[in-house]
Amino acid sequence: MNAFDPARLRPRLPSPLEPVEDERFTRHGLTLLLKRDDLIHPDLPGNKWRKLSLNLREAAGRPVLTFGGAYSNHLRATAAAGRLLGFATIGVVRGDELAGRPLNPSLARCAADGMRLVYADRATYRAKHEPEALSRLLALADAPEDVYVVPEGGSNALAVHGCVELGRELDGKADVVAVACGTGGTLAGLAAGFDGRTLGVPVLKGGFLAREVRALQEEAFGGPRGDWRLDERFHFGGYARTPPELAAFAQEFGTWHGFAIERLYVAKMLYGLTVLAGEGAFAPGTRIAAVVTGAPEPSAPPEPYARSGPQPVSSR
Ligand SMILES: *Cc1c(COP(=O)(O)O)cnc(C)c1O
Repeated sequence: MNAFDPARLRPRLPSPLEPVEDERFTRHGLTLLLKRDDLIHPDLPGNKWRKLSLNLREAAGRPVLTFGGAYSNHLRATAAAGRLLGFATIGVVRGDELAGRPLNPSLARCAADGMRLVYADRATYRAKHEPEALSRLLALADAPEDVYVVPEGGSNALAVHGCVELGRELDGKADVVAVACGTGGTLAGLAAGFDGRTLGVPVLKGGFLAREVRALQEEAFGGPRGDWRLDERFHFGGYARTPPELAAFAQEFGTWHGFAIERLYVAKMLYGLTVLAGEGAFAPGTRIAAVVTGAPEPSAPPEPYARSGPQPVSSR
């Protein structure tokens, strides 16, 4: 463990696995278990801790630059890690139209944690995998020479390896595990470590995720691992779309089970599971573990950050 290893932050691992009473499952003879990854660490909750830990150990205190949308949980977790462990962070945010506007609560939290924010226009942001676009972004961000770059959503081979343990923690305790997917990095690692079936629920529309998961497993392990599949029906219109029906479901589930349900990912996965249970997709007796990959986003940090935080640099 080096000084910049998040293991120093005393994560709660293995995360708790809680059986819950839910009529929508028990009536079909199913056991629902909640895998409370949201309790791993208050500032680096859920899969973000698992995905960052090996990367931050590798970065070993060098400045970390990474990418995300304006509400990215990954950017927030990276910024918090930088503050807690004492390394510099740079966040490249998608959308240069945001430059000069007041920071939303999520970005204000990043800024409060000392993250330097840079806004990239969407075309450059999209092209960030290409070496030429990346070097343009690094120049734009005035990134130091020794910068350690973590890809969008934190998903690379090290992140995938960091999620293998999540699967191992569930071995023998569940038959099926369900997880919400953004980039698919968590699913790629989880499925590799789990001896049962893994179900991924993409929260983005597009049907490209299976290819991404295969590519991440290829990069991390040199080939396919685990027994996983995706159900593409529960994105509710796409990323960050939370129609009233979903919001009502999350509200009710949270009230019933005693904690607030994160809506961009966790609620969609839980909703999908209840539909699948109702469709008879699982044999009676099946133990289903639902991974609570994160907590709801925090409210705004104290002033002055919300209004006059570090001004992001525009690419224009
Ligand atoms: C980031 C995130 C995910 C998605 O993880 P991927 O590895 O990108 O698929 C799921 N749930 C929550 C709460 C997240 O913050």
